[in-house]
Amino acid sequence: MQVGTQSGLLEGLTLAIQRQPEAYVLRSWLGLAAGEISFADYYKIASERLQLSYLTIDTTGACDLSCSDMCYYNPAIDTRLGLVSEKVLTRAIDEADTHLDLQTMVLAGKEPFLNARRVFALLRHCGSLEHRSFTVGVVTNGRLLNRHWDGLQDAARNHCLDFLDISIDSGFPSQHDRIRGQTGTFDLAFAAACEAHARLSGVRISVTSILRQDNPEGILELLRNASPSLRCFHVFPIQPPPFVTTQPLEAEFVVAFLANLKRLLKGELAGAGVEITVTLPGLYLSEAVGSSLFEWADLEENHQGACFARKEVEGNSIVYACLVLPEQASRLARITYDGAYLAHLHFLQAPQPQAYAVGYIQEESIVSLYRKAIGVGNHFHQIVNSRAHHECSGRSCWQSCFGGWVVAENAFLNGQTLTAQPRLCPKEKETPH
Ligand code: SF4
Repeated sequence: MQVGTQSGLLEGLTLAIQRQPEAYVLRSWLGLAAGEISFADYYKIASERLQLSYLTIDTTGACDLSCSDMCYYNPAIDTRLGLVSEKVLTRAIDEADTHLDLQTMVLAGKEPFLNARRVFALLRHCGSLEHRSFTVGVVTNGRLLNRHWDGLQDAARNHCLDFLDISIDSGFPSQHDRIRGQTGTFDLAFAAACEAHARLSGVRISVTSILRQDNPEGILELLRNASPSLRCFHVFPIQPPPFVTTQPLEAEFVVAFLANLKRLLKGELAGAGVEITVTLPGLYLSEAVGSSLFEWADLEENHQGACFARKEVEGNSIVYACLVLPEQASRLARITYDGAYLAHLHFLQAPQPQAYAVGYIQEESIVSLYRKAIGVGNHFHQIVNSRAHHECSGRSCWQSCFGGWVVAENAFLNGQTLTAQPRLCPKEKETPH
């Protein structure tokens, strides 16, 4: 497998920026890769934007599943702390909309429908905002949706719900149930996804899957079975939590899955009209380009600062979402069910995420918490600074990964140094020529 060359990357990014002169993430990426801006310069650019593109609110800390070795919640987290009040949450949403250019708000949990009352109250609030400029949706394991069709149809009808993401990791029912730790989960989730598609007019229904060592065939089977009813799919390569023995995926494994995916869309599913978004952390990008899945020049950037390459495949689309520069803290945040403001989703992998919280929304405005999260000395600043002297910096994958930025947050939890190749990158050291 070829690895995308540095000169190809610089030329490709230059072409991509010529098409989209306003693309600030691509421009920063090119500046860093070419050595034209320093990491201190990049920190300044990112921290001056005040754009919280993506806010996740947990409606509960509880879940009805036990997904071993992959749940982003540490199993030891106390799920019985007091819930932050709805009034505080709606105030935070309004402030993020008005002052932080909020683009997407998602209700999650663990399983958000274990507090359905709060899900619907927050959806109604968002729907009532006269000039709402953000989209709103829910991420769920799908097990409880059949209890809530009336509420969901109301929400859809009243423009309170824009998207619903249902997690299904395999088209083989027994495999999904084994991964998720509960028999019958596949049947409930799959039926819910198809019914949501039929009932919730105007709501984007997506199925999200975690790619693991054991389920590439299962995801392809899911696409075969679901594509007659569903159109949108997301695939995320697993990034194992720091406290488990599960190994991260090799780049070759991810690229082989993508090649098989493309083959399926070209052959059996030609003309199915499905769109599959595959999130690729920087760890996998040079191999994806080296295998001709897309070119650097194909990259686009949307208003949220997300970079992606869209490829049409026989009446279907694959969107390669490229995570190269950090999103956590500067564009993403999460409010836990007890009101803690987390700048990094990864902090949920600690037994006490509150220890890493910037603060609590019941005590401080979300604007102030956001400013603190990107402030000098905080986690975001430390991560960006650490790239000035990093042990990956001489490697051929550096310009499209910068030391696994999006997985570096784990270093705060596992005590690894921020300047070292992260544990979640399985690449061998290259032999010097
Ligand atoms: S070796 Fe470092 S720069 Fe290369 S992919 Fe791994 S983490 Fe990223």
